[in-house]
Amino acid sequence: HVKARGKDGYRFYSESMSIDTANRLNLERDLRLALERDELRVFYQPQVCSSSNRIVGLEALVRWQHPERGLLYPRDFLPLAEETKLIGKLSECVLDQACRDVGQWIRDGHSDLRLAVNLSPVQVEHPRFVETLMDQIQAHGFPPQNLEIEITENVIMNDLEQISQKLRELAALGVRIAIDDFGTGYSSLNYIHRLPIHTLKVDQSFVKAIRSGEDGACIVNAIVAMAHGLKLEIVAEGVETDEQLAYLKSLGCHQVQGFFYGPARPADVIEKTLGHIPVRAVAF
Ligand code: C2E
Ligand code: MG
Ligand code: MG
Ligand code: MG
Repeated sequence: HVKARGKDGYRFYSESMSIDTANRLNLERDLRLALERDELRVFYQPQVCSSSNRIVGLEALVRWQHPERGLLYPRDFLPLAEETKLIGKLSECVLDQACRDVGQWIRDGHSDLRLAVNLSPVQVEHPRFVETLMDQIQAHGFPPQNLEIEITENVIMNDLEQISQKLRELAALGVRIAIDDFGTGYSSLNYIHRLPIHTLKVDQSFVKAIRSGEDGACIVNAIVAMAHGLKLEIVAEGVETDEQLAYLKSLGCHQVQGFFYGPARPADVIEKTLGHIPVRAVAF
């Protein structure tokens, strides 16, 4: 449609391209500085046992406390980090903070508390991924059996042979493996029983669909049934309402995560919540 708008249309297009480029360069410079100035924050979202209301895990979700633009979310900077290789430093920074925070809470007596971290494809595809990850958690004395890594189906399908080797090594060391956004990727079900997977995370789009009645809920039904059959743990993501929670419980989905129990929050806030298990659903 650029052509249809003639010369002006084209000029408009190229101007907006150069603004994008300038923005990108600014953002890239800012992100580089952010890593030096320690502006990245790890927020934690509870993963809750739906029958006891107890926190069983915390998912680490990165935020950027930008000096001028305020709190930024992953969608604002993660794609750029991945394109520019800043993702390596970013991931390292997130895992360091998370091991420090959650490691402390584990030592404080929450000994089964699970830390879930999201890994980017670039990270997993790195030849020394396993060594790098293990060195880093060992530096904090973080127990591998309390760590769950979250990867997506697409990362797995991208290079099944390499990835399965790496996942096997990690699983042998005690690290748990979760498939994030389950059901939204390639969805080749063939790999699931060939890989050492512990947890399926039902994507929030399927949880949202519960409210639209029988048809909407059928994918959640199928995923939960499959997880039961394969003896996998299951975490439903994006649970916001009583109705969704009740429905998921009735299916036998025991772990839930979402605004119903609370969004991701800073470490000092989460620490107080941990002191008060079982948590009650918070108004939000
Ligand atoms: P994800 O791992 O699937 O995380 C779930 C996202 O859903 C988070 O968004 C979370 O804040 C949001 N969420 C949680 N409960 C609800 C709910 O009830 N309703 C709705 N509408 N949303 C909910 P967030 O924090 O913006 O993160 C987006 C994505 O960015 C994550 O999706 C993950 O793929 C990626 N990400 C976040 N932190 C990291 C990180 O440290 N490293 C890497 N590589 N990726 C990360
Ligand atoms: Mg995740
Ligand atoms: Mg997800
Ligand atoms: Mg995601």
